Amino acid sequence: MKLSKFMSVKGIIHCETGLRIGGTKEGIIEPGGSENTIIRHPVTGLPYLPGSSIKGKMRSLLEADPSSGSRIEGDGKPCKCGTCLVCRIFGSHGMSNKEITRILVRDCPITEESEGVLRSAQEEKGMNFAEVKSENIINRNTGIAANQGLRTQERVPAGTDFKMHITLKLFEGDDAAQILDFIKKGLSLIQKDYLGSSGSRGYGKIIINDLNITED
Ligand SMILES: [Zn+2]
Repeated sequence: MKLSKFMSVKGIIHCETGLRIGGTKEGIIEPGGSENTIIRHPVTGLPYLPGSSIKGKMRSLLEADPSSGSRIEGDGKPCKCGTCLVCRIFGSHGMSNKEITRILVRDCPITEESEGVLRSAQEEKGMNFAEVKSENIINRNTGIAANQGLRTQERVPAGTDFKMHITLKLFEGDDAAQILDFIKKGLSLIQKDYLGSSGSRGYGKIIINDLNITED
Protein backbone atom coordinates (compact mmCIF):
# COMPACT_ATOMS: atom_id res chain seq x y z
CA MET A 1 0.00 0.00 0.00
CA LYS A 2 1.33 3.40 -0.95
CA LEU A 3 0.93 6.35 1.35
CA SER A 4 -1.03 9.09 -0.35
CA LYS A 5 -1.21 11.94 2.19
CA PHE A 6 -1.27 13.04 5.81
CA MET A 7 -4.12 15.08 7.24
CA SER A 8 -4.41 16.84 10.58
CA VAL A 9 -7.54 17.17 12.66
CA LYS A 10 -6.92 19.74 15.36
CA GLY A 11 -9.12 21.33 17.97
CA ILE A 12 -9.36 22.43 21.57
CA ILE A 13 -10.80 19.95 24.04
CA HIS A 14 -12.68 21.90 26.68
CA CYS A 15 -13.58 20.12 29.93
CA GLU A 16 -17.15 21.12 30.78
CA THR A 17 -16.95 19.07 33.98
CA GLY A 18 -14.10 17.66 36.00
CA LEU A 19 -12.32 14.91 34.09
CA ARG A 20 -10.39 11.97 35.42
CA ILE A 21 -7.81 9.87 33.59
CA GLY A 22 -5.93 7.96 36.25
CA GLY A 23 -2.17 8.31 36.54
CA THR A 24 -1.32 5.61 39.04
CA LYS A 25 -2.94 2.41 40.12
CA GLU A 26 -6.19 3.14 41.88
CA GLY A 27 -5.79 3.38 45.62
CA ILE A 28 -2.06 4.01 45.68
CA ILE A 29 -1.16 7.05 47.75
CA GLU A 30 1.85 8.94 46.52
CA PRO A 31 4.19 10.47 49.11
CA GLY A 32 2.70 13.78 50.13
CA GLY A 33 -0.04 13.48 47.54
CA SER A 34 -3.58 12.28 47.34
CA GLU A 35 -4.70 8.82 46.35
CA ASN A 36 -5.99 8.17 42.85
CA THR A 37 -3.94 10.81 41.08
CA ILE A 38 -4.55 11.95 37.51
CA ILE A 39 -2.02 11.42 34.75
CA ARG A 40 0.51 14.25 34.59
CA HIS A 41 3.56 15.32 32.65
CA PRO A 42 6.47 13.69 34.53
CA VAL A 43 8.56 16.87 34.65
CA THR A 44 6.12 19.78 34.87
CA GLY A 45 3.41 17.97 36.84
CA LEU A 46 0.79 19.51 34.54
CA PRO A 47 -2.14 17.32 33.47
CA TYR A 48 -2.45 16.16 29.87
CA LEU A 49 -4.90 13.93 28.03
CA PRO A 50 -3.25 10.75 26.70
CA GLY A 51 -3.91 10.16 23.01
CA SER A 52 -4.44 6.47 23.79
CA SER A 53 -7.44 7.29 26.01
CA ILE A 54 -9.08 9.39 23.30
CA LYS A 55 -8.33 6.84 20.58
CA GLY A 56 -9.64 3.96 22.69
CA LYS A 57 -12.83 5.79 23.60
CA MET A 58 -13.46 6.85 20.02
CA ARG A 59 -12.89 3.30 18.80
CA SER A 60 -15.25 1.68 21.30
CA LEU A 61 -18.03 4.20 20.58
CA LEU A 62 -17.64 3.83 16.81
CA GLU A 63 -17.63 0.02 17.03
CA ALA A 64 -20.98 0.23 18.79
CA ASP A 65 -22.37 2.54 16.08
CA PRO A 66 -24.45 0.73 13.44
CA SER A 67 -22.75 2.66 10.62
CA SER A 68 -19.34 1.08 11.33
CA GLY A 69 -20.16 -2.47 10.26
CA SER A 70 -18.01 -3.72 13.17
CA ARG A 71 -18.60 -7.11 14.70
CA ILE A 72 -18.34 -7.43 18.46
CA GLU A 73 -18.22 -11.06 19.53
CA GLY A 74 -19.52 -12.44 22.82
CA ASP A 75 -16.13 -11.94 24.46
CA GLY A 76 -16.58 -8.17 24.18
CA LYS A 77 -13.16 -7.71 22.62
CA PRO A 78 -12.54 -5.09 19.90
CA CYS A 79 -13.50 -5.93 16.32
CA LYS A 80 -10.88 -7.89 14.40
CA CYS A 81 -12.66 -8.36 11.08
CA GLY A 82 -10.03 -6.33 9.25
CA THR A 83 -12.51 -4.86 6.76
CA CYS A 84 -14.93 -2.59 8.65
CA LEU A 85 -14.25 1.15 8.88
CA VAL A 86 -13.05 0.85 12.49
CA CYS A 87 -10.53 -1.89 11.66
CA ARG A 88 -9.35 0.00 8.57
CA ILE A 89 -8.82 3.27 10.44
CA PHE A 90 -7.86 2.11 13.94
CA GLY A 91 -6.15 -1.15 13.06
CA SER A 92 -7.48 -4.65 13.35
CA HIS A 93 -7.18 -6.21 16.78
CA GLY A 94 -5.26 -9.44 17.03
CA MET A 95 -4.51 -9.64 13.31
CA SER A 96 -1.13 -9.61 11.65
CA ASN A 97 -1.99 -6.44 9.72
CA LYS A 98 -2.75 -4.42 12.83
CA GLU A 99 0.23 -2.19 12.06
CA ILE A 100 -1.84 -0.63 9.28
CA THR A 101 -3.39 2.10 11.32
CA ARG A 102 -4.63 5.24 9.66
CA ILE A 103 -5.12 7.28 12.80
CA LEU A 104 -2.58 8.62 15.27
CA VAL A 105 -3.92 10.49 18.27
CA ARG A 106 -1.24 12.62 19.87
CA ASP A 107 -1.10 13.26 23.59
CA CYS A 108 -2.96 16.51 24.24
CA PRO A 109 -1.00 19.11 26.23
CA ILE A 110 -2.77 21.76 28.26
CA THR A 111 -3.20 25.15 26.53
CA GLU A 112 -0.97 28.02 27.67
CA GLU A 113 -4.05 29.87 28.91
CA SER A 114 -5.26 26.98 31.07
CA GLU A 115 -1.74 26.42 32.35
CA GLY A 116 -1.74 30.03 33.54
CA VAL A 117 -5.07 29.54 35.32
CA LEU A 118 -3.84 26.41 37.11
CA ARG A 119 -0.55 28.08 38.07
CA SER A 120 -2.46 31.01 39.63
CA ALA A 121 -4.66 28.57 41.53
CA GLN A 122 -1.54 26.82 42.76
CA GLU A 123 -0.10 30.07 44.07
CA GLU A 124 -3.35 31.27 45.59
CA LYS A 125 -4.85 28.05 46.93
CA GLY A 126 -2.03 25.53 46.91
CA MET A 127 -3.83 23.43 44.32
CA ASN A 128 -1.59 20.84 42.68
CA PHE A 129 -2.94 21.48 39.12
CA ALA A 130 -5.92 19.32 40.00
CA GLU A 131 -9.15 19.27 41.95
CA VAL A 132 -9.30 16.73 44.78
CA LYS A 133 -12.82 15.39 44.94
CA SER A 134 -14.21 13.42 47.85
CA GLU A 135 -17.05 11.03 47.34
CA ASN A 136 -19.26 9.72 50.10
CA ILE A 137 -21.00 6.41 50.20
CA ILE A 138 -24.55 6.74 51.51
CA ASN A 139 -25.51 4.33 54.27
CA ARG A 140 -28.62 2.50 52.95
CA ASN A 141 -30.20 2.20 56.40
CA THR A 142 -29.75 5.73 57.67
CA GLY A 143 -29.55 7.64 54.39
CA ILE A 144 -26.54 9.46 55.85
CA ALA A 145 -23.23 9.80 54.07
CA ALA A 146 -20.69 7.73 55.95
CA ASN A 147 -17.30 9.33 56.34
CA GLN A 148 -15.69 5.93 56.58
CA GLY A 149 -16.64 5.34 52.99
CA LEU A 150 -15.00 8.54 51.83
CA ARG A 151 -12.47 8.28 49.08
CA THR A 152 -10.67 11.03 47.23
CA GLN A 153 -9.88 11.29 43.57
CA GLU A 154 -8.02 13.87 41.56
CA ARG A 155 -9.73 15.42 38.55
CA VAL A 156 -8.72 17.92 35.91
CA PRO A 157 -10.78 20.97 36.94
CA ALA A 158 -13.79 21.94 34.82
CA GLY A 159 -12.93 24.71 32.37
CA THR A 160 -9.48 23.35 31.47
CA ASP A 161 -8.52 23.29 27.77
CA PHE A 162 -6.21 20.87 25.95
CA LYS A 163 -4.76 20.94 22.44
CA MET A 164 -6.02 17.98 20.38
CA HIS A 165 -4.04 16.78 17.38
CA ILE A 166 -5.09 13.76 15.34
CA THR A 167 -3.03 12.71 12.33
CA LEU A 168 -4.64 10.68 9.54
CA LYS A 169 -2.46 8.63 7.24
CA LEU A 170 -4.28 8.02 3.99
CA PHE A 171 -3.24 5.44 1.42
CA GLU A 172 -3.86 5.36 -2.31
CA GLY A 173 -7.44 4.37 -2.97
CA ASP A 174 -8.71 5.57 0.41
CA ASP A 175 -11.92 7.58 0.46
CA ALA A 176 -10.65 10.62 2.39
CA ALA A 177 -14.12 12.15 2.81
CA GLN A 178 -15.55 8.92 4.21
CA ILE A 179 -12.68 8.51 6.69
CA LEU A 180 -12.89 12.15 7.79
CA ASP A 181 -16.65 11.88 8.29
CA PHE A 182 -16.13 8.78 10.41
CA ILE A 183 -13.51 10.52 12.59
CA LYS A 184 -15.85 13.50 12.98
CA LYS A 185 -18.58 11.09 14.04
CA GLY A 186 -16.23 9.58 16.64
CA LEU A 187 -15.47 13.02 18.03
CA SER A 188 -19.14 13.88 18.15
CA LEU A 189 -19.91 10.61 20.00
CA ILE A 190 -17.26 11.35 22.67
CA GLN A 191 -18.90 14.74 23.24
CA LYS A 192 -22.27 13.04 23.74
CA ASP A 193 -20.73 10.39 25.99
CA TYR A 194 -17.69 11.15 28.18
CA LEU A 195 -13.92 10.91 28.33
CA GLY A 196 -11.99 9.25 31.16
CA SER A 197 -13.68 7.53 34.06
CA SER A 198 -16.88 7.90 36.08
CA GLY A 199 -19.03 9.34 33.30
CA SER A 200 -22.18 8.09 35.06
CA ARG A 201 -21.20 10.17 38.08
CA GLY A 202 -20.89 13.34 36.03
CA TYR A 203 -17.22 13.25 35.09
CA GLY A 204 -15.65 13.73 31.68
CA LYS A 205 -18.07 15.90 29.70
CA ILE A 206 -16.06 17.56 26.96
CA ILE A 207 -16.67 19.95 24.08
CA ILE A 208 -14.32 20.16 21.10
CA ASN A 209 -13.90 23.75 19.91
CA ASP A 210 -12.10 25.26 16.91
CA LEU A 211 -12.09 22.03 14.90
CA ASN A 212 -9.69 22.52 12.02
CA ILE A 213 -8.89 19.98 9.31
CA THR A 214 -5.86 20.47 7.08
CA GLU A 215 -3.85 18.50 4.58
CA ASP A 216 -0.21 18.35 5.72
ZN1 LIG B 1 -13.70 -4.68 12.06
